[in-house]
Amino acid sequence: NDNKRVRVRIAPSPTGDPHVGTAYIGLFNYVFAKHNGGDFLLRIEDTDRTRFSKDSEQQIFDAMKWLGLNYDEGPDVGGDRGPYRQSERFEIYKEYAEKLVEKGEAYYCFCTPERLQKLRERQTAMKQAPGYDGHCRNLSKEEVEAKLAAGEPYTIRLKMPYEGETIVNDGLRGEIRFENSKIDDQVLLKSDGFPTYHLANIVDDHLMGITHVIRAEEWISSTPKHIQLYKAFGWDEPKWYHMPLLRNADKTKISKRKNPVSLNYYQEEGYLKEGILNFLALMGWSFGENKEIFTIEEMIENFSFDKISLGGPVFDLVKLGWVNNHH
Ligand code: GLU
Ligand code: ZN
Repeated sequence: NDNKRVRVRIAPSPTGDPHVGTAYIGLFNYVFAKHNGGDFLLRIEDTDRTRFSKDSEQQIFDAMKWLGLNYDEGPDVGGDRGPYRQSERFEIYKEYAEKLVEKGEAYYCFCTPERLQKLRERQTAMKQAPGYDGHCRNLSKEEVEAKLAAGEPYTIRLKMPYEGETIVNDGLRGEIRFENSKIDDQVLLKSDGFPTYHLANIVDDHLMGITHVIRAEEWISSTPKHIQLYKAFGWDEPKWYHMPLLRNADKTKISKRKNPVSLNYYQEEGYLKEGILNFLALMGWSFGENKEIFTIEEMIENFSFDKISLGGPVFDLVKLGWVNNHH
């Protein structure tokens, strides 16, 4: 349904300093939402409790505020919904994973870490691609019930179609095809009851009414899994846009060693937010005008995916230098 209200989100994981890549993806989501009179949501993907940092979460909020990429749902912007935290929604993910088991789209897997390790070693020795072998997919109802009653730890895995292809229709890249035989039965719920990224991400995008997923290209390989999850639930998938990754001057993926990637750095050094936003916008987007600075309103007015180029955008601090108000 193309008449749905446009809703997009960024979904950063609070595991370190707020990353310049979050601002880059955030900017395109924000501008796209506002161009279409839609909503821009912020969702904290904090399911990985070992890497979670409260400071990092606060810094994401602060950085978004500094840059003016204001999210639409949250107590501080009126209303009682959002910003969303996945750690507050674990019950929901579990419930949805179990729904898929009931529907016959997912199954309990009781394989021990030792068995999975042996499987990997065997696959490596035989020069096979690593992956789960579907061992528990055909356990009988009675076997499953006995194991559950005995308290055996389990994960929940999605039944992937082992044949055919999954096609990602990317708004920037066209059709990207994946062979299903190469995608194994992904884990949805871990043995500690925590959801995987795939499950939590898809359940939330659906429940939050996300219509367009605009994210970095490093997630492309996850998208066929996500599409299979949408199919399993019987939900419509959103439109997909995978933005080119920010690169160092030598074309490698942007990294701390070659560029400051923390937004704190730019804020502390006194960079102007307009400069940062323009610089990030120009990374992926040709405005087609000889104008140096665009206000956020002008970006919103002029935004179109047709103007996004896929060439590896180079994040070069020397070029950003001209907006540093220290000079
Ligand atoms: N949590 C993922 C991240 O850290 C979200 C990716 C996505 O947008 O689906 O970027
Ligand atoms: Zn198993």
